[in-house]
Amino acid sequence: MFNSIQLNTSYTSQHHVHVGYEIGNKIAEYLSATFTLKKAVLIADENVHRLYKDTFIKDISGLFDEPVFCLVPEGEQSKSLALFSEIIAKTLEAKVERITPVIVIGGGVTGDLGGYVAASALRGMPLIHIPTSLLAMVDSSVGGKTGINHSVGKNLIGSFYEPKAVFTDIKFLETLPQKEIINGLGEVIKYGMIKDENILTTLKSLPLFEPFSYSKEWEQLIGTCARIKSDIVTKDFKESGLREILNFGHTFAHVIERVRGYENSSHGEAVYMGMWGAVKLSNLLGFNIDIANLSAFRTLYDSSFQPQESLEELTNLMLHDKKVKDGSIRVIILEELGKARATGITDLSLIRESWNYIIQEFE
Ligand code: ADP
Ligand code: ZN
Repeated sequence: MFNSIQLNTSYTSQHHVHVGYEIGNKIAEYLSATFTLKKAVLIADENVHRLYKDTFIKDISGLFDEPVFCLVPEGEQSKSLALFSEIIAKTLEAKVERITPVIVIGGGVTGDLGGYVAASALRGMPLIHIPTSLLAMVDSSVGGKTGINHSVGKNLIGSFYEPKAVFTDIKFLETLPQKEIINGLGEVIKYGMIKDENILTTLKSLPLFEPFSYSKEWEQLIGTCARIKSDIVTKDFKESGLREILNFGHTFAHVIERVRGYENSSHGEAVYMGMWGAVKLSNLLGFNIDIANLSAFRTLYDSSFQPQESLEELTNLMLHDKKVKDGSIRVIILEELGKARATGITDLSLIRESWNYIIQEFE
């Protein structure tokens, strides 16, 4: 029940992603073997802390003589300069050293914020990620992106900072709300589309509408997704090219999130809708991607998308996406299932038609 993916990255010589079920002992072993057990900074999601303070979190923090606890309230608003500054203050006031581990336990919000604290305090402290949401397990805990939001925009402050290790204990999913599982599945489906269609086959066989319960299939699925992400980012740590394919569906999704308002929209659902646009676009460009690969999961995502904006306006909003190059819209398309690439679209009528396809499906 424990598999370890060993990676070579351009930043550190080695880094590990471990995926398993009930791996608290493994984590304790690793921490004991790697760090002096004096101090540790534990940055934990508040909900996760409430649920696991007498079990998992107690076991981990109990290893250290002086654990410093920093709690992160749920929600995107926690990725703020104010909370960042508060946690940095608490960290420095505890007189930590550059060898003191920063152990981050939570979903993507806690991971981004806690990762940035580890990257910044004392110019970098060893970072251990323990992702607890499906999205964090398959996506945000892998790849070294850390950061917080600014009133000017999301994720505008941050850095690329590799964790020393990522420990994914699937047991956490037993308490994750169903809507957050479905949120994470958007990215899982994405990996199936861009890289490995077996993911789609496995997903179809899993009881996705029932409360999460452990199975070997889930463990393998999450391990495969984490491995795909880490393989891609290992080859392209600072996002120069290859890493772009992870944005499949996202150029559309970012616009969907913007017009719906970030508070009202789940990232996974926006990505799912966005992938419909990306598949349509691929087919308009002459490829032949069966939409059944996406429609098989349609019942997971039942909310509608009825924007006030016209097709032109939606298309223009994509021009503001940071992935735009030379007035063309940079989008990830599929040449075949499992084979993605980036391309610049100058004929905007193709994009409008793709938006039309999304709206007709999700009205
Ligand atoms: P994401 O991981 O999707 O980027 P968040 O970090 O905001 O987003 O986590 C989503 C929600 O799930 C938050 O309300 C968080 O408190 C909660 N959460 C994360 N992990 C767990 C867990 N294992 N059990 C229960 N709730 C969790
Ligand atoms: Zn995403």
